[in-house]
This record gives sequence, C-alpha cells and structure tokens, in this order.
Amino acid sequence: MATDSRHKAAISNLATLVKIPTVSRLDNDGTDWNQFTKFRAKLRELYPECHKALDLELVDNSTLLFRWRGKSDGQPAVLMAHYDVVPATVEGWEHPPFGATLVKDENGVESLWGRGTLDDKGSLVCVLEAVEHALGKGFRPQNDVYLSFGHDEEVAGTGASSVVELLKSRNITPWIVVDEGGAVVEGIFPGVDRPIAVVGVSEKGILSLRLTVLQQGGHASAPPKNAATIRLARALLRLNSKPFPKSFVPTNLEMIRTVGKEAKQPFKWVFGNLWLTKLPLLALFGKLSDETRAMIRTTQVVSQLSGAQAANAIPEKAEAVVNIRIAIDSSVSSVVEHVRKAIRDPLVQIETVHPTEPSPVSETSGRAWEIIKSTISKVYPRAIVTPYVMLGASDSRHFAQISNHVYRFSPFEMSAVERGTLHAKNERIRVETFWNGIRFYDELLLEL
Ligand SMILES: [Zn+2]
Repeated sequence: MATDSRHKAAISNLATLVKIPTVSRLDNDGTDWNQFTKFRAKLRELYPECHKALDLELVDNSTLLFRWRGKSDGQPAVLMAHYDVVPATVEGWEHPPFGATLVKDENGVESLWGRGTLDDKGSLVCVLEAVEHALGKGFRPQNDVYLSFGHDEEVAGTGASSVVELLKSRNITPWIVVDEGGAVVEGIFPGVDRPIAVVGVSEKGILSLRLTVLQQGGHASAPPKNAATIRLARALLRLNSKPFPKSFVPTNLEMIRTVGKEAKQPFKWVFGNLWLTKLPLLALFGKLSDETRAMIRTTQVVSQLSGAQAANAIPEKAEAVVNIRIAIDSSVSSVVEHVRKAIRDPLVQIETVHPTEPSPVSETSGRAWEIIKSTISKVYPRAIVTPYVMLGASDSRHFAQISNHVYRFSPFEMSAVERGTLHAKNERIRVETFWNGIRFYDELLLEL
C-alpha cells in the first residue's frame, strides 16, 4: 500500500535528521553551526518538491522561512517548528541520543529514540511530509502558507522574533499560527479516562531577577555582624515564605469546564459547579503536584547563588538569581513589586534580566479555533480538545504580536513517561503517533 511506503520513508527521514546534532547553546561560540548548515542541506535533499515550489528565505542567518503561494491573497497561515535541540550526552541513555534507533518494546510498540524526536524535529518532519505529499498531488492552498522553522528556540534566541519583525514590515497578519506545545495526554485529570488534547492558547511570562548585596571586603578572621551572604540568604527566605497569590485564570476555568463535562461522577459535579467548588479546587491544585501548582500561580525558584571568590575572604558581593514564570493575569512590574515587598530590605538590589511579559490569550471560538479542534478530532476521535496555558515558553509567543490565533499543539500522543524525556534522557517518539502527526498536517493543509 502506498501509505505504508510513505510512512516508512517519513520515519527514515526523521531518523536521518535526528542524527544531525543541531544543538543550540547559550554561548553562540559554543554552537557548531556546521551542523545547522548540514541539516538545511539534508532538508533540501529529502524534500525536493518543497524546495522547488516554495520560496525560501533565511532569516537571522539560520531560521528557515518558506512561503507557499496560495490561490488568493487573503491572510496567510503559519506552521511553525524548530530544528535546534537541547544538548545530550550518551550518559544515561538506553540508546544514543543522536543514533536514531528504532526499538520495539515488550508490547510490540515501536519507537524512534533520539534527541529532537518529540522536541521538535518530529513536528518539523510531519509538516514537511504533509506539504511534500500535497505538492505531489498538485494541491495548492487557498491562501499563502508560511513554514517558519527556528534555529534557536531552545535558547530563547532571535530567530522567531526576527521572522515576526519581517512579517510585520510586510503588513502580514496571519489568521492562524500553529506551533509545538500541548499534546494528546492521558491521566492528567481525575475522573477522566479519555485522552485529552491540550492546545496552548497562551504562555506564562519569564523573568530572572538578580539580587545583589554589596559590602566592604576584608579578611574572614574579623567579619562584620551581618555578612552580605547572610543578608542575601535572609532576603531569599523571606521571598520563599511569600509565594505569589494563586488564582484560576479564565483559560484554566475553561479547561476545567470542558474536561469536567466528560468526567465520571462525582468529579463531573465538582468540575461542573465551580461557583461552589472553585476555592477548594484551587487549594487542591496547590497541593496535587508541582505541575498543578505551577498552573495556578506565578512560580519562583532560586537558580543561582554566589559569594566570595575565596574560602577565607569576606564577600564583597553576594548574588542570587531567581527565575520567575509569570502567571498570565500578572505582569513583570507587579512581580518586581511583590518581590520588593517580600524582601523588605533596601540594601538588596533587584535587577531584572531578560523580562518577557505573559502572552495574550488566543481566541477559543471562531474559524481558526474550530479548525484546530476539528482537525485534532479527525486524527484523535476519542480525545477531548481543550485550551490550556503553557507553562514553558516557545517561539510562537512572538507571533502573538501579529495574530490573535496562535495555537501551540504538537500532534502526538505523549505518555507521562514520554513527556518526562523532553529536555531529559531517553527522548523518543512512538512510530504510530508520528504517523498520526503527519495525518494532522495532511488534514490541516486542506483547510488553509
Ligand atoms: Zn521545542
């Protein structure tokens, strides 16, 4: 059957691309750009029709922006993915991260192992497979379709924002943007047996705060009463004891209502009567897991700490970095205000580093949303489709500046174990769900 050989070719293409270690690093000099060049050359080889029929420009040196010209010149669609990956060494991996090994488990379920299979070369290959296939059948979309494939998503680089600036300068406002994000998951909601397709409609903001205490240095044999390190530690403890307020944002409530309708009793009743159960539920989410806790508030973690240069010196400077993920009903300025009040010490200097506001919430009604929903249902008929707030950040947040319909969804089934391999060891994708991912884009293209 033709479909079968198409599927086999697709998994082999993904394997080929996973083997090219396009690892992005925060220090640009540490990045092996040859791998990125090699990756793009390989794409050209594997997807010749796309490269023939679509216009291609390189943005910010390495981000690929394809333009597929539609039949008319209405608002375009944008399909996104990224081809950089986070670092991985062989240590702790059952199969080497850049080996792209096909493995059948004891239940006969086949997976392709390797860094980037789920995040995010899997999606990238699914998009290209669908476009290449559609071109082969002579298909042309109604309006333009852009494919935007970033090169520095994992280091929150400038690729995607440069694309957005470029599109802005050309007055382009996409009617729909689809990027990685949520997935088809199971067992995340008490009382619900069906799989749930979570589609990110917004993402939290990010901010690092550098807290610094300066002091006269000297020998540690005659220390001051309150060393800079102690002052800093006190500030951190005060901050830790004053968590940010918790609340359900409207998207959380929409998710609870949508999924709750499909829950078994008594959960159905609990999720369906939020006027009565909202506060106890909020308390429950605060305790259930780190993930549910993060859903309902701005989170903070002290990620870095430093003091004196030598073991026997009084620190001239004590410094901490607090990484903060900002709830979508909050803002950078209110977070800084909260921290200042919690710390209660003017000698602790607070500096903001790379602040990003939470992104606006995309609409969950109208044509774009309905298309996302119905396309997911075609491929995953058992899944309940719901909006949610993404906890992590992705490239698509930049696109919220030019579109009210930015949807973050990786069209794959991911178990809890598989989700745990993202940015960690033993990342892998089930072959079957990868094929479903291709079908998702096959179906989606027909609507664009
Ligand atoms: Zn990613």
